[in-house]
Amino acid sequence: MTSKILEIQDLTVSFDGFRALNHLTFSMNPGELRVIIGPNGAGKTTFLDVITGKVQPTEGRVLFQGKDIRKIPEYRIARLGVGRKFQTPRVYLNLTVAENLDLAVNRNKSVWGTLMGQATGAERRSVGGLLETVGLTPKAHLAAALLSHGEKQRLEIGMLVAQSPTLLLVDEPVAGLTDEETENVGDLLLALAESHSIIVIEHDMEFVRQIARKVTVLHQGSVLCEGNMDQIQNDPKVIEVYLGE
Ligand code: ADP
Repeated sequence: MTSKILEIQDLTVSFDGFRALNHLTFSMNPGELRVIIGPNGAGKTTFLDVITGKVQPTEGRVLFQGKDIRKIPEYRIARLGVGRKFQTPRVYLNLTVAENLDLAVNRNKSVWGTLMGQATGAERRSVGGLLETVGLTPKAHLAAALLSHGEKQRLEIGMLVAQSPTLLLVDEPVAGLTDEETENVGDLLLALAESHSIIVIEHDMEFVRQIARKVTVLHQGSVLCEGNMDQIQNDPKVIEVYLGE
C-alpha cells in the first residue's frame, strides 16, 4: 500500500504513434500543492487527461490513493475524489453566484445517501461556507454573468470544492487575469492546499513563484526536472528548453 496520493509509473500515451507522454514517472504526497510547467506540447494537458480517465494510457500505471485507476471510467474517477477545473470557467451565467454553488453542492448527493438520511461530505458543505472560502459573499446574489473573469475563476473553484474532491486538478487558472485577480486566485489555492492535494498547470512564472513549493517541469512527454523555483530557474536543462521555445 502506497502512502502517495498519486503515483504514476512509466506512463506512455501515444496518438497514432506520436508519444504525447513518454515513460513519465511522477509521484505526489497527500496535501502537496504541485505546479507543473513546460513548453507548449510538453504533455501537460494529456497528463491531466490521463489522471481524470479522459485519455487511456498506452503503457504504465496510474495509482490514486494506491488504487489503479487506469481502466476506471471518467465519472467514477471523479466520484473517487479527483476534481478538475478547466482553463475557461464553466459557470451558469444566468444563475446567481449562490445558486451556482448550491447546484454544485447538490450535484453530489447520492440517491442512496438521501434515502438513508446520510449526509455526504458535500452535503455538509454549506453554500455560505463556500462563499466565504472563495471570497464571494458580497456577490452571492449577483448573476454570475456580472462577475469579473477572476471572480468567475474563483466561483468555479468553489463549485469544484463543493464536490469534496481529495485531489484538485487546475488548468491555467490565471490566464488573462489582472495582477490583483491573479493574487486572489493564488491566495485561494494556498488556502485550499491546507485541506486538499492540488496540481496546477501554469505558464505565469510570477504566479508559480507565489504558490509553488515544488515544481515539476515536463518536456517532450517526460519529467525534465523537479525542485523548488530557485532550483528550477537555475537548472541548465530548463533554461535550454525555454530558450529554445
Ligand atoms: P501541453 O498541454 O503541454 O501543451 P498537450 O498534452 O496538449 O501539451 O499535447 C502534447 C502533444 O500531444 C502535442 O504535440 C499535441 O499536439 C499532441 N496531442 C494531444 N492530444 C492529441 C490527440 N488527441 N491526438 C493527437 N495528438 C494529440
